[in-house]
Amino acid sequence: MKNKILLLSAIIVSLSLISGCFIYKNYQNKQKKKEEKIIANTKREFNFYIKNEIKEKPTNEVEYFFNEIIKENQKNQEINWENFEQNNLQKNLNNPQIEEILNIITAEQEKYNIELLDTLTEKKLPKISNTQIDQKTIIAIYKSHDFIKNLKQEKTKREEYLNKLNTLKEDLTTLKNNKNYYAKEDVYWCEDQETVEQLQNFSTKYNLALNVQLKKAETPKEAKKENGVPILCYHGVLDDYWGDASLFVKVAEFEKQMQYLVENDYTPIFTSDIKKANKYQKPIIITFDDGYKDVYTNAYPILKKYNIKANIYIISGWINGDVYMNTSELQEMASSPLIEVGSHTVTHKALATLTEDQIEEEVKTSQQQLQEITGKPIDIIAYPTGSFDNRVIAITKKYYQYALSTIKGRENPANLNQYSLRRIYVYRQTSLEAFKNLF
Ligand SMILES: [Zn+2]
Repeated sequence: MKNKILLLSAIIVSLSLISGCFIYKNYQNKQKKKEEKIIANTKREFNFYIKNEIKEKPTNEVEYFFNEIIKENQKNQEINWENFEQNNLQKNLNNPQIEEILNIITAEQEKYNIELLDTLTEKKLPKISNTQIDQKTIIAIYKSHDFIKNLKQEKTKREEYLNKLNTLKEDLTTLKNNKNYYAKEDVYWCEDQETVEQLQNFSTKYNLALNVQLKKAETPKEAKKENGVPILCYHGVLDDYWGDASLFVKVAEFEKQMQYLVENDYTPIFTSDIKKANKYQKPIIITFDDGYKDVYTNAYPILKKYNIKANIYIISGWINGDVYMNTSELQEMASSPLIEVGSHTVTHKALATLTEDQIEEEVKTSQQQLQEITGKPIDIIAYPTGSFDNRVIAITKKYYQYALSTIKGRENPANLNQYSLRRIYVYRQTSLEAFKNLF
């Protein structure tokens, strides 16, 4: 009897153990399936990342994070140093272009910022994902990406690229500061042997086929001496232009130009002093046609600030007009030791189109009127629109010492075109770099 009871108990215990096991196992299986389902769902959710495709509209931080990784991966695949060199260096070592390449390099350095890669760490994931199971799975998914697997090498690749950019930047800055060469039709003309070698070293280092030549006589600096004094021709100095935009240089640009002249030791002189220009190392003449009000309000303060001499050519019949200087403004400028006043006729007509009487009326009357207003002799005239012929010159000679044309060029003090002085226009669109190369 006792045995029977024991046996029965044993059976019951075993049965309950077995069923318990079975129930537990069943529970375990269910739990596992549940987990697998979550993982599968999670994977499906981040399938874009596994397939290395940017998610168009990321909805949570993990998606944003994975998108970043894909973007950085794409960037790294784009790195191509040889292409960068070839595209930017071969024909762009002219001084103004170097500035542009330097800008491209700066943009490139920002784009491949190495610190971006340090933000893509595994540590960040638990902070931005929600549930426990998500975290493990997400980290596993994160690690599965080739870019993350090779993060160290990818970082090195980027570092190498940035280092090369940095070296190039230094080399280009050195070239940029060297004013002893210039580029013309694929040839780099150098003023000295040192610059020739500098450019040749550069072209070897960056594997370029540059045509570098030493040719002193053709460099701009030498040419300048031969060609004489530059006479710059301005009209307005105004940001919000009216009429022909190209005739209105922006105020800040004008200031940069004047500052450049001062810093580079040019000596601005009056037109009346042109015969004595050779006394100076780097003489230059600054002229303004038409007598616009903005020359008084915008240019004159800058001329005073930098102590620069300038010449203004006034249309005597248009003084006090809307956009023109009024009498007192003109008188104020005329009394300044920095300003020389000249005539630009009475009504700004193209002189070569007029009869001789009309020409005489324009040149003579404007002289009288301007002398009256300024109290000073008016010995120089600028032909309106640059229009003149032999009749104009003959009549002008009776009243004036010099006349300015708009023919492009410089004036040699020993051999002046006294009644048709050449000038160089400065336009609104003239950049500072272009300005430096004008004369
Ligand atoms: Zn004019």
